[in-house]
Amino acid sequence: MPTKSFLIQKFAKLQFGNLHLIGYSVAGEETVVQVPEMNVCFDIGRCPFFALTSDYICISHGHMDHLAGLPYYLSQRAFQGMKAGTVFVPREILHDVDTMLKCWRNVERQGTPYNLIGMSPDELYEVRKDFGIRALATHHGGPSLGYALISIREKLKPEFAGKSSQELAALRRQGVQIQYRIEVPMVTYLGDTSLGTVFDHPDVQNAEILVTELTFFDPSHQTRAKAGKHLHVEHFLKVFPKLKNPNIVIAHVSRRIGMRKAKAILRKRIGPEAMSRITFLMDFEGASDAGEVETAGPESRAD
Ligand SMILES: [Zn+2]
Ligand SMILES: [Zn+2]
Repeated sequence: MPTKSFLIQKFAKLQFGNLHLIGYSVAGEETVVQVPEMNVCFDIGRCPFFALTSDYICISHGHMDHLAGLPYYLSQRAFQGMKAGTVFVPREILHDVDTMLKCWRNVERQGTPYNLIGMSPDELYEVRKDFGIRALATHHGGPSLGYALISIREKLKPEFAGKSSQELAALRRQGVQIQYRIEVPMVTYLGDTSLGTVFDHPDVQNAEILVTELTFFDPSHQTRAKAGKHLHVEHFLKVFPKLKNPNIVIAHVSRRIGMRKAKAILRKRIGPEAMSRITFLMDFEGASDAGEVETAGPESRAD
């Protein structure tokens, strides 16, 4: 008798207030982090099924572990009868990614639609009046970007605070600017990066949720971190005092260290109180099998 077993890739699902992060991230292997409520997926990894439901994909850089599933994402959405995905990429790789996707059209003999948008550091793409995606310069050797999901809100200027709605409407008709704009970074994702000025960016320091890579923890892996332009725990400790985020999510941990050991090294250096703001994306200790992710994909069409 043959022995049977299920081989299941485990995805993480974290909840912070009314936002969720669904994803998978292991250095060099695959990274994909979705914020379903904001219709955004950071990187696409190998395109797990849940990622299909995001209309906006923010690609951090061209390494295969972050980008491989992109043609599948676009093609599968077309197959499922969903609208064309919108994909942000660093402007420097726009042409090459476009060429790759056009090759896939030829290979598949299918005119898969897509919106490909090149982004530069600090460019804000306004998805809606109240929601934008800002690109941030990261430090990974080649062209690389992080992305911040920005809630854009209009607030009444304090000098008009006591006025009635009729008075405000009248002022508006006269062309008076009664509101001012505020931008609140909700979720910021850094992709792959080494230590650098990105950690001084207000969207990084103030985001409600910061998803940062932290690839290496072992003291003997400092040279690896330097060579691969990744963060080592020693780098993270340098920037941590600047970070005001209530929630920091650590992704892209190397397989060269066990999750439990990585957590222990960080806790020892940072202390239990600081540790309470930090979650490792791929830490399944104490997790339950939710099974919700499997049904988060689109309904299959009859064909
Ligand atoms: Zn990577
Ligand atoms: Zn990389």
